Amino acid sequence: MQATADLIRAQQQRVRERFPDTPTAKLALLPAPIRNPRGTKSIAMGTVGDRHVDWVAAMPPLLLLEDGKTEFDRSKVVMYAYRHSYAQRHADAGVPIDQLRKLMNHDLLESTRRYYRITEERTRKAVDAVARFHFDRHGNRIWREAKQLLDSEHVRQNLEAVAVPFGRCSEPSNVQAGGGDCPIRFRCAGCDHFSTDVSYLPELETYLSSLLQTRERIAAMTTADEWAKAEAMPSHEEIRRVRRLVANVKDTLAELAPDEQDQVQEAMVTIRKSRAVMLGMPSVRQPLPDVRPERP
Ligand code: SF4
Repeated sequence: MQATADLIRAQQQRVRERFPDTPTAKLALLPAPIRNPRGTKSIAMGTVGDRHVDWVAAMPPLLLLEDGKTEFDRSKVVMYAYRHSYAQRHADAGVPIDQLRKLMNHDLLESTRRYYRITEERTRKAVDAVARFHFDRHGNRIWREAKQLLDSEHVRQNLEAVAVPFGRCSEPSNVQAGGGDCPIRFRCAGCDHFSTDVSYLPELETYLSSLLQTRERIAAMTTADEWAKAEAMPSHEEIRRVRRLVANVKDTLAELAPDEQDQVQEAMVTIRKSRAVMLGMPSVRQPLPDVRPERP
């Protein structure tokens, strides 16, 4: 994402220097080359398409990376295909699907999902790679056999648990409701039905920092009743539990050899991407307090 932003900024700077008398807001990002003295007209798509065809035709043979011999059909190098490449590269880099949706200017996540793929084989390998790094709510390792998970185990995991924002829930009624019926309002760090793995580390850290920020904001509020503040305040106990969980996951990762850390990191990226594709995971937020607290 940073590379894309830098590229766009550099182009904006070039256009500003070329048309210094035109207000910035009126400048086209890609100005038309003729009859455009103020830089406000965008280049026509037909012109870009024609230049692109010429550019592709002038290229040396495009050889596939897999074998370095087979030539790629250059008729498939069309401009629209870059949208797919763009989406795939960002997804491969672990950009969350909601951010990618904004970058691609889509209204629906469903539209964004169509632009990139994750192979099932790759996802399974990644799941196998992090199978040894599962934790219960206390941050204790849940040891699994290091050998590859059986197919039945993959299926079982999917049927008997649902995703929650920073792990998995096996509470039967919540599983049956697809994850929307938690009886204790998603206080997962205090629930035996909760487990997590290393791939959720970023969400766990975000959740911890949102708990801390929420505490500070509520403590500073002077415009709310004490009972309302008390209801909304994240508890010290929850913060302590989440902090311990984060620390245990990080310590486990830190103990690995560098090459093993690389493998786990790569598996984490694949799993996080797959999770975003399959589930459109929501951002992590502080769980809602009681909507109607008891009153006299
Ligand atoms: S608090 Fe327990 S039951 Fe509720 S979502 Fe989390 S793990 Fe499931």
